[in-house]
Amino acid sequence: MTVIGLDDTDSRELGMCTTYVAARVAERAAAEGAVARTLLVRLNPAVEHKTRGNAALAVHCDLDGERALALAREELDRAATADPDTNPGVVVADCDPGAVPESVVGVAERAVREYVRPGTAREVVAEAGFATAERGTGRGLVGATAAVGAWRAFEEWTYECLSYREPDRWGTPREVDRESAFAAAEAGYPEVWDTVDREEGVAVCVPRTPCPVLHGIRGDGPDAVRRVADAIEGEPVARRRVFVTNQGTDAHLQPATDGVRDGRAYRLDGRVTAPPETREGGHVFFGLAPDGDSGGTAGDLECVAFEPTKRFRDRVRALRVGDRLTVCGEVSDGTLKLEKFAVRDLVTAERVTPDCPDCGRSMASAGRDAGYRCRDCATSADGRVERELDRDLAVGWYEVPPCARRHIAKPLVRGGFDAPVHPER
Ligand code: ZN
Repeated sequence: MTVIGLDDTDSRELGMCTTYVAARVAERAAAEGAVARTLLVRLNPAVEHKTRGNAALAVHCDLDGERALALAREELDRAATADPDTNPGVVVADCDPGAVPESVVGVAERAVREYVRPGTAREVVAEAGFATAERGTGRGLVGATAAVGAWRAFEEWTYECLSYREPDRWGTPREVDRESAFAAAEAGYPEVWDTVDREEGVAVCVPRTPCPVLHGIRGDGPDAVRRVADAIEGEPVARRRVFVTNQGTDAHLQPATDGVRDGRAYRLDGRVTAPPETREGGHVFFGLAPDGDSGGTAGDLECVAFEPTKRFRDRVRALRVGDRLTVCGEVSDGTLKLEKFAVRDLVTAERVTPDCPDCGRSMASAGRDAGYRCRDCATSADGRVERELDRDLAVGWYEVPPCARRHIAKPLVRGGFDAPVHPER
């Protein structure tokens, strides 16, 4: 077996995308031999300088290493020539994808959760004896190496069926029949997810960038995603490929055992300490004190649900000080951008000034440590009383809607969560 890893061929000018190059490499490899699978690996979404979508690709095939490298080079050059903003990299491993060295697996794990320098990737592949090709700064070598190590690094995989447009249509408005997309999404759910956002009325599967993709259908099984793609009507499809991916797996989340750092994504427990506040632009912020074993030494952590997360913000606005949560999301500038949260324990009562039993009006303070009394009825009370709160939230997981989902974030409908779920669709 041979593993061809590819990254960073995305070009804004030419409307290219790495998945398209990988699809072409896979097609050509299949014409000369066999292709076992094509991987689409989403890297750390928080990393600066990321390419759009931050994707790396791997083709698992039976070409010999030399031929594989030549073929990948040809396709890279076709795709990336004139654009100075692309820094593509190729790594060719002439071994089984399940047998790549531990150091390469380590690059895959780190590239999804933190930041890997190009120099580190270069050293690791040189030591492994893998062939490489790079252009520009060689930043793409990191993703290419991660793509080679991914099969061993991760256990959970999902599928995406990508359909590509005819080249002469690239950059023009896409013709996708809305009704058929919504019907296919309904028929494929829940095995196929994030195809559309029903509440927002958005066909999430259709990209808005000038790339060659017509639509991408995501789900738990290869046949299911292909069926939904087949059922969507629209302009002609030039090529179609099902990728094995780490999308929708939460592979980027890590525990905050060493505290919380910018550029990483966490899953951590804590207690709400500052009430939700809607700020300019419609973003909703609140404060959270992470538990001691969740990196909770450096003070409160600001959490935010940005405006594009739409109705998710209503869930966040319903939080109260004292609620116990598990939050998931990427941290940048010291703020955690919420992807989902679990309500563990809700505050169900608050202490309030008592009402007068006779007239029903709120009592007034009778002075320091003197309790409360009603001036009109001469009734009195010893102190504040507990009042039950009517909460709009239930225990369990809440998530951003499909229109705001990160590629790598796991939709609740996929299951495997440790509490009841409240999926968005
Ligand atoms: Zn009264």
